[in-house]
Amino acid sequence: MPQLPLSPGSTLGILGGGQLGRMLSQAASRLGFDVVVLDPERDSPAGRVSAHQIVAAYDDPDALTALGRAADVVTFEFENVPAASIERLADAGALVAPGPTALRVSQDRVDEKTFLNAVGAPTVAFAVVDTLDDLVVGLTELGLPALLKTRREGYDGKGQVWIHAVEDAPAALESLGGRAAILEAKATFVRELSVIAARDWDGHMTVYPLGENRHEGGVLRTTLAPAAVDEKTQVRARAIAEAILDGLDYVGVLGVELFDLGDDVLLVNEIAPRVHNTGHWTQDGCICDQFEQHIRAVTGWPLGPTTACARIEMTNLLGDEIDQWRVLSAQADERLHLYGKAEARPGRKMAHVNRVLGSV
Ligand code: AMP
Repeated sequence: MPQLPLSPGSTLGILGGGQLGRMLSQAASRLGFDVVVLDPERDSPAGRVSAHQIVAAYDDPDALTALGRAADVVTFEFENVPAASIERLADAGALVAPGPTALRVSQDRVDEKTFLNAVGAPTVAFAVVDTLDDLVVGLTELGLPALLKTRREGYDGKGQVWIHAVEDAPAALESLGGRAAILEAKATFVRELSVIAARDWDGHMTVYPLGENRHEGGVLRTTLAPAAVDEKTQVRARAIAEAILDGLDYVGVLGVELFDLGDDVLLVNEIAPRVHNTGHWTQDGCICDQFEQHIRAVTGWPLGPTTACARIEMTNLLGDEIDQWRVLSAQADERLHLYGKAEARPGRKMAHVNRVLGSV
């Protein structure tokens, strides 16, 4: 095991080469680290800005061995990396953060909600759905409408279907293609919030101010931060985030999506064991952004400050909205973050823009 804190010049391994990996890599290089990225695609957004890229599947044993050898610490940028790959790296003696437990818990919506409720982080009521009978019973218990989701590998609203009538149950189940599912009660929220938090190897924690999020078609459109919430809500969100971090013995940055039901009631929608789209505002709203914070946490550096120094509206640019770069690049109050993706497929996250709304 390497000695912590890692010195500049050490190497960080990242599983996953998307935009989150790219921005992690940029933050790491600013602190003097080299980065090696493992991603199945050549020329991935992260690979293009990193010292080395290993082009291989996430479960390729030789590639994992090479990554473990090259890197002083290994992290990941998305939660669908096979947990077995993280375990394999850890078993081979590599320092891995966050660890396999966080990954396993967040990969399965039932395990996730069970864990959350056990650490005192409330969620919507839910039912495990393996058969049509389970679904019909679940609908009776949870009421209508209810949301049927795949247990695993859903993201950005994919793999989910609202059920408004019991007669629609068979078609809904079929639309998930026979995959194991979870039925969720509808959260009647007044708004969606999120909190980005970090924990280091010694258990110190920091929490950023809350962001308020607006989704379109299940995909994040904007985050406004710091959100206009009262002190009680901020304190409650902090307590929830800390309970989750401690419960997972977590190291690194974690995103927690919340439903604000009003009257100081917060439910956790889901957690992401990584830097999070709703934390991008910190790049221009905080001295130490979520990417640097993650690098600090996993390399054993002291965690940075999380107070906001500006109010930010972050907007995702999807698909051909990236063509607005010329106009946006001329705005004095807007800062563009482009991901270096060649192909602007519809709905694909291509960039985001942070608009500075003013001081806090
Ligand atoms: P998810 O993929 O679980 O993050 O869900 C995507 C979006 O769907 C959320 O940000 C919410 O807007 C909505 N959503 C998910 N679960 C529920 C729920 N149980 N009740 C109401 N809305 C939900």
